[in-house]
Amino acid sequence: KLHNELQELKGNIRVYCRIRPFLPGQKGKQSIIEYIGENGELVVLNPAKQGKEGRRSFKFDKVYGPTSTQADVFSDTQPLIQSVLDGYNVCIFAYGQTGSGKTYTMTGPDGASEEEWGVNYRALNNLFSISQRRESTFTYEVSVQMVEIYNEQVRDLLSNDGSQKRYPLFDLVHLYSVVSIHVRGMDRKSGSSLRGSLHLVDLAGSERVDRSEVTGDRLKEAQHINKSLSALGDVIFALAQKNAHVPYRNSKLTQVLQSSLGGQAKTLMFVQLNPDATSYSETLSTLKFAERVS
Ligand code: ADP
Ligand code: MG
Repeated sequence: KLHNELQELKGNIRVYCRIRPFLPGQKGKQSIIEYIGENGELVVLNPAKQGKEGRRSFKFDKVYGPTSTQADVFSDTQPLIQSVLDGYNVCIFAYGQTGSGKTYTMTGPDGASEEEWGVNYRALNNLFSISQRRESTFTYEVSVQMVEIYNEQVRDLLSNDGSQKRYPLFDLVHLYSVVSIHVRGMDRKSGSSLRGSLHLVDLAGSERVDRSEVTGDRLKEAQHINKSLSALGDVIFALAQKNAHVPYRNSKLTQVLQSSLGGQAKTLMFVQLNPDATSYSETLSTLKFAERVS
C-alpha cells in the first residue's frame, strides 16, 4: 500500500538507465560513467576536466551497469507487463544516441539466444504465460501491430498492402519502430471485460546532427527526428509536472502513443548510455533529457 501511494505521488513515469559495456574491439578503455550500486545513482566524468568540477551526478529509478543481463532488466520491467493484463495502458521506450544499446535492450542482439532476448520477446512471452495461468477465470485475446514512423509518416509493417513503400534497410536506424500489443480480457464468471495495451518503442538515435554535414533528405530526416523526440520530451515533461495541457498533437510519435501516455497509463523510459569518452557530450545531453522527465 505504501508502495502504491509513493508511486502515485511520483506519477506513473519511471526512468531506468542502462550503461552498455565496451564492445570486444574496445578492450581496456576507461568508462566515463561511475555506477554507484543499487540506488539509481550514477556520476558522469567530463574527460576534459579533473577532479570535482568534472563530475556530475544523476539519480533515476534504476541504473543497470555494463554487466547487467537482459533477465536482470526484465525482472524490473515485468510488473508493468503484468499490469497490461489487468487493464492498464503501458508504454516502454528506449532513448539514447545511436550505438548506445536501444535495440539491444528492446529486441536483443542480432541472432539472439533466448538468454539474450530483449524486452519485446520477453514481454510477449510473459503476456502469454500469464494469460494461460489465468485461463480458468479469464479469457484473453491478444493482437499485435508493428508500425514504423519515418519522416512523420506511419507505416504498418504487418499489413499485406503491397502498395506501401518499402524503405531501404540502411534507413532503419533512422526510424522509430513501435510494437503495439492490445489485450482484451473477459471475466468468465461475470462476463465483464477489460482492455489493456502495451507499446514498445525503439526510438531513433537522439544525437544532434551537425547541420553543416548533412543536406537534402538526411537533413529533413534529422529535423523530423529532433522534432519528434523533443515533442515526446515535452509530453512526458507535461505529464511529470501534471500540467493540464499535454501537447500530444505535435508529432506523429506522440499521437501514436497518446493512449499509452498519461491518464492511468504507465510509462517506462530506458535511458541508454555509451561508456566511451568520445560520447561525453551526447551522454550528458541524454542524461539531461532524462532528468527533465524523471
Ligand atoms: P542502438 O540501437 O542504440 O543504436 P545497439 O542496440 O545496436 O544500439 O547497440 C550497439 C552495439 O552494442 C551492438 O553491437 C549491441 O549488440 C551492443 N550492445 C548494446 N548493449 C549491450 C549490452 N548490454 N551487452 C552487450 N552488448 C551490447
Ligand atoms: Mg538501434
